[in-house]
Amino acid sequence: MKQYQMILNSPEETMDTAARLADYLKPGDVITLEGDLGAGKTTFTKGLAKGLQINRVVKSPTFTIIREYQGRLPLYHMDVYRLEDSDEDLGFDEYFEGEGVTVVEWAHLIEEFLPEERLAITIRRQGDDVRELTLEPSGERFNRLCEEFMYESTGN
Ligand code: ADP
Ligand code: MG
Repeated sequence: MKQYQMILNSPEETMDTAARLADYLKPGDVITLEGDLGAGKTTFTKGLAKGLQINRVVKSPTFTIIREYQGRLPLYHMDVYRLEDSDEDLGFDEYFEGEGVTVVEWAHLIEEFLPEERLAITIRRQGDDVRELTLEPSGERFNRLCEEFMYESTGN
């Protein structure tokens, strides 16, 4: 499977990158976010929200599992960390197949419910302010999206 990497040197750069990615998204898109606590998953989501013209402050949904925001497209922000050891289906499909974009932090915990076509993003801490972003697209649409996004990002 093809994957793409980028180095992000500050929280602002992470947010700007996510905001640019938002321009490529359409209803029903699912993005999974993996990475240790403090890697930058929520920071990335805040940037995505900004790019979707969401003006409300995006908070970590840890205690609510799902938060919904209105913008150019709705954003469904999930953090399923607290669902550890649970294989209960909370009606995820309604979000995944909904009118908005779904972002799932700690998505591997609900692996069995995830759609096959999705954009998997992993964030790894490389230093105080430095992060490595890995994009792994599944399906034709996300493959093309990543190629275009990387071309815009790096010029190659
Ligand atoms: P997570 O949701 O993965 O637990 P958060 O986004 O809540 O992580 O927290 C990431 C923390 O790391 C924030 O305090 C953020 O300011 C900091 N940080 C430092 N450098 C970066 C970077 N390049 N990208 C994202 N966050 C960064
Ligand atoms: Mg978080």
